[in-house]
Amino acid sequence: MTPFTKRNFLRIIVGCLSIGLLYSLHKLVPFLASRVQHLELIIISIMIMMSLLVMFFWSVFGVIGGLASFLITMIFLYNPLTDMDPYYYSVLILAFFVSSYIGYYISKKIGISEQKYTVSKEKIEEDVNLLHEHVKNRSGEVLTMGNKIESLLKLKNIADSLSVSLSAEGITKIVTEETFRLFGENNRVLFFTVQEGERRLKLAGEVKKTRRSEFKVRGKGRIFNKWVRENMKSLLVKDVKKDFRFSLGADEVKDDAVSLMIKPLIIEGRILGMLRVDSPRADAFTQHEFRLIDIIGELAAVALENTRLYRQTEELAIKDSLTGLYVHRYFTERVEEEIKRAELGNGKNTFALFMLDIDNFKEFNDEYGHISGDMVLKKIARKLKSISSAGDIVARYGGEEFVFLALDCDKKNATRFAEEIREGIGSSPIVLRRKKCFVTVSVGVSLFPRDGRRKEELIARADEMLYKAKAGGKNRVCSG
Ligand code: GH3
Ligand code: MG
Ligand code: MG
Repeated sequence: MTPFTKRNFLRIIVGCLSIGLLYSLHKLVPFLASRVQHLELIIISIMIMMSLLVMFFWSVFGVIGGLASFLITMIFLYNPLTDMDPYYYSVLILAFFVSSYIGYYISKKIGISEQKYTVSKEKIEEDVNLLHEHVKNRSGEVLTMGNKIESLLKLKNIADSLSVSLSAEGITKIVTEETFRLFGENNRVLFFTVQEGERRLKLAGEVKKTRRSEFKVRGKGRIFNKWVRENMKSLLVKDVKKDFRFSLGADEVKDDAVSLMIKPLIIEGRILGMLRVDSPRADAFTQHEFRLIDIIGELAAVALENTRLYRQTEELAIKDSLTGLYVHRYFTERVEEEIKRAELGNGKNTFALFMLDIDNFKEFNDEYGHISGDMVLKKIARKLKSISSAGDIVARYGGEEFVFLALDCDKKNATRFAEEIREGIGSSPIVLRRKKCFVTVSVGVSLFPRDGRRKEELIARADEMLYKAKAGGKNRVCSG
């Protein structure tokens, strides 16, 4: 502890002043003695003054200080007091001592109560400070709670929007935009998806402030995405340059992302995509925000899986399981749509409807078996699909019957195309029991608008033409 405290300086100053005062009294009393009649009275008042001084020393420096000051006072006053009666002198000294002690005692009491007061004042101040701190913490907590509630409400909105979205594009838009709105500031939100049957990540959506740099899929952020993919868990990087898990490549160094969070979208062990939020500021994300992106990612994963299942169910409902072609019901719906579309073209739009039936297929089945028959059906389906153009509709109409709607076909084109189909099927062999087998088809053709403007008319006409082809000896095209 340093001796150069304020209190010690004060003590020295008071000590010096007291000695100065005593010295001047020492000189003043003999001077007054020669001039004043009742010196005793002066001496008594000086003694009372001095007892106050001793009392002060006693209380500040303790008993030793008090006795020392008492002795010094006695030494200084010895000269002027020697002329007095010894009895009177000793009573005076005793009274001086007692008054000093009483003074000391009172001052000590005052000191203690003052000390008590100081202690309780300090305690109150401490309590007030604690209360202030508590209030500050509480208002901080209230503010964080408010923010948390706000972010949870936003999460609810995201969940609501995602639950009604049935396309991957819609989900991408909702997730990127809402996440950006949630995290705000200078962040950049990236949404990657994994295409079905592929391994590569595709950047499906990006929302960012204009001053942020463009994300490059091939380079930037690759190591982070790779890490998430390999570990199949969320990643929080507080500072990309300081994270010992990653050694940055040139592209990552160039990118302006300093801290980032990545959430993989996983369903039953399959990765469907990734949601990434990054910031140009180090340590930009809290644990709460990391949990939020986790929840958004879970919601997005479920929504993506729902769209996949929805698409699958839709496909199952409209596609034939053996051939992969559309089913009868879907075909007739589409024919109706095409008629409506063609009607809008002021009679300029035409299309052809082909109805195909495999010739003598019962015999084929009997000879080679049902499984071989199925292979033939699949082969014909593939063939029909391969020669169809965009917008054409190919369907399995019944057991071994197919329908084909070819757009922009007039009579001449339609017959030529039907012949092409018939020849194509009839000339491509299927090897069964090491033997090349051939199947032929008969084709009936109807034309819009020549043979009717309603789907029933067009189908009935094609069927009629097919019957005619069969009656005419099979393996032929009839177009009326
Ligand atoms: P036609 O030349 O007059 O059309 O003679 P067809 O034998 O083809 O005619 P029919 O309608 O009498 O027989 C159709 C056959 O097609 C009966 C059935 O065994 C076969 N078939 C229908 N659906 C399937 C299928 O999904 N798989 C197989 N392998 N055969 C089928
Ligand atoms: Mg048939
Ligand atoms: Mg047949």
